[in-house]
Amino acid sequence: MGDAEELHEAEMYRKEEDGSVTCALCSHRCHIKEGRRGICGVRENRRGTLYALTYGKISAEAIDPIEKKPLFHYLPGTTTYSLGGIGCNFRCRHCQNWEISQSDDFSHLAFLKVEDAVARALASGCRSIAWTYNEPTIWHEYTREMAARARAKGLGTVYVTNGYITPEALAEMTPHLEAYRVDIKAFTDDFYRTVCGAHLDPVLASTKQAYEAGMHVETVTLVIPGMNDDPEDIRDLCRWVVRELGPEVPMHFTAFHPDYHMRDTPATPVAVLERCHAIAREEGVQYPYLGNVFSHPAQHTHCHACGALLIERDAFHSRTVGLENGRCTACGETIPGMAGKRG
Ligand code: SF4
Repeated sequence: MGDAEELHEAEMYRKEEDGSVTCALCSHRCHIKEGRRGICGVRENRRGTLYALTYGKISAEAIDPIEKKPLFHYLPGTTTYSLGGIGCNFRCRHCQNWEISQSDDFSHLAFLKVEDAVARALASGCRSIAWTYNEPTIWHEYTREMAARARAKGLGTVYVTNGYITPEALAEMTPHLEAYRVDIKAFTDDFYRTVCGAHLDPVLASTKQAYEAGMHVETVTLVIPGMNDDPEDIRDLCRWVVRELGPEVPMHFTAFHPDYHMRDTPATPVAVLERCHAIAREEGVQYPYLGNVFSHPAQHTHCHACGALLIERDAFHSRTVGLENGRCTACGETIPGMAGKRG
């Protein structure tokens, strides 16, 4: 990057009298001194102005099945044009995308204009755009502009997020965002503090805000043996989802594989995931799923009312067998999220 003139000024920050700035994009609310960057590493204070250093900078571009996000109740069986940038506001010790999320080197990244990205999504036949692979909140200006354009062109829009966005930043995204695929990494603040360098409450707050704003919400919990798989914590999480969101919100429990700073922690046994699934069912979650375990029956979708098989899944491939216009063909029940995008 060259001069400030070439840079993209950030939004959602306050200039302080001493030349520092306060960023209001995520719940870290970094106070950034002149010449420094926020925790995410991609927003920098230069002479009292905050810049979004990675605006338009692309680290990854792919056409993915929407099921890979994972989203099982939003435009099922379609592909999503997936974009990732660089950096993250979390420091998860088990990050499975750490090469891009924990990097602050974006000098080599290609620039992709908003209009070109939307055109590529349309040309590829995708039904939606997903900002994924790294945290989209820290890409706010770029993703908001693209989401607005995408919606205007009839595309769906997806945040695959850690949920640390502030209420005001999420409010700005809300008119343009249809699906909020949020990690709830654990149900204890201790886990968030010690493993992710963050806190639990803002994640729950943003998830509830997204749900109440009418977004399609699905949660993902990467289950790590001995760290966040306590049955009572899983039960509390499920109770929170049912009580504060609704029983129809799909919950994904996915298997951990050793990575990054947690290479000595064993992979999650399937039995542990199955226990999470059973707890979710006991607590009234209508659509609990298992992930990162292929060809498991808990990846299929069954009607919550009559139990009929609606969608079969194998890895990221899905086959609709009992669903028509968002309704179960056996009993006629409306299946949450399946009817398509919100208005
Ligand atoms: S996005 Fe979050 S981590 Fe980055 S500068 Fe703003 S408040 Fe800090």
